[in-house]
Amino acid sequence: MWVITATWCMALDGVRKAAEMLKDGADGADALETLITDVESNPGFTSVGYGGLPDRDGNVRLDAGFMDGTTLNTGAVMSISGFASPFRIARSLSSSELNNVLTGSGAEAYAAEHGFEQKDMRTELSISRWKQAVQQTHQAYRGHDTVGALVLDEAGNIYAGTSTSGLFMKLPGRVGDSPLAGSGFYADSLVGAAAATGLGEDLMKGCISYETVRLMKEGHSAQEACELAVKALDSRLKKARGKAGDLSVIAVSKNGDCGAFSNISEFSFVTASDTKDPCVYLVKENGNISADTAWIRAYMERHHQF
Ligand code: ASP
Repeated sequence: MWVITATWCMALDGVRKAAEMLKDGADGADALETLITDVESNPGFTSVGYGGLPDRDGNVRLDAGFMDGTTLNTGAVMSISGFASPFRIARSLSSSELNNVLTGSGAEAYAAEHGFEQKDMRTELSISRWKQAVQQTHQAYRGHDTVGALVLDEAGNIYAGTSTSGLFMKLPGRVGDSPLAGSGFYADSLVGAAAATGLGEDLMKGCISYETVRLMKEGHSAQEACELAVKALDSRLKKARGKAGDLSVIAVSKNGDCGAFSNISEFSFVTASDTKDPCVYLVKENGNISADTAWIRAYMERHHQF
């Protein structure tokens, strides 16, 4: 048995490629890397990797995280600029005993020393959106999304990964939930894994990925765990502050069942397994999950210009 699940429609091609690899018995971490680097390298996806959302100063500074649920090895890079795949660097950091999480210039020095591909991650589109936003401040912070992906492979190993440019027009150095183990992602092969997307500042207030895995450990299915974790954090934030940002979570359990839940009206995710072809699903705020092809086509046209 193998299973993949990933946040947002943009993961579809990557999930297809990863599914082909898992069919041929590939290692789950390699399949996860193929999935996430597919999204990172596509300039049409404007919130991850190449062509990602610039910060206030016009630089594309990226965050990524990786966790091996069998060894619990974790690696992350934060606010890195000038490298093609932040995820590959995060994965590489997970295998050392110390220095698993590197930020900014330290992450860039490590990546250069280890020969990771260097690339100016700005595109004409990202630069022009930044120039527009400088003049129209109301656009700031909108349109952010993270690719978060979970893989359970034939050997029973579970992996979690994330990659994002974070919030548009963020302050230079700002880091969201995505590279933080427990908030943006978490994996434990004895239980399952989870990954999050939405407003990092709020997702991290509930360590939502760890909380989702913890709920599965208590005996909840992946779907129940996602629903309980999102609803609890949403209501806790509203109680404390009168509002909650976007909170969306996906999960997979060690038994291979998947879950997704969100407090936004429409959250898309992609799944594939040894028994199901890759497919995009839509979760509505009421928890209804469907494969709504018209919506998916419209979303792709709205968000991603190829
Ligand atoms: N969670 C990401 C961040 O706050 C953005 C997103 O997933 O939409 O950096």
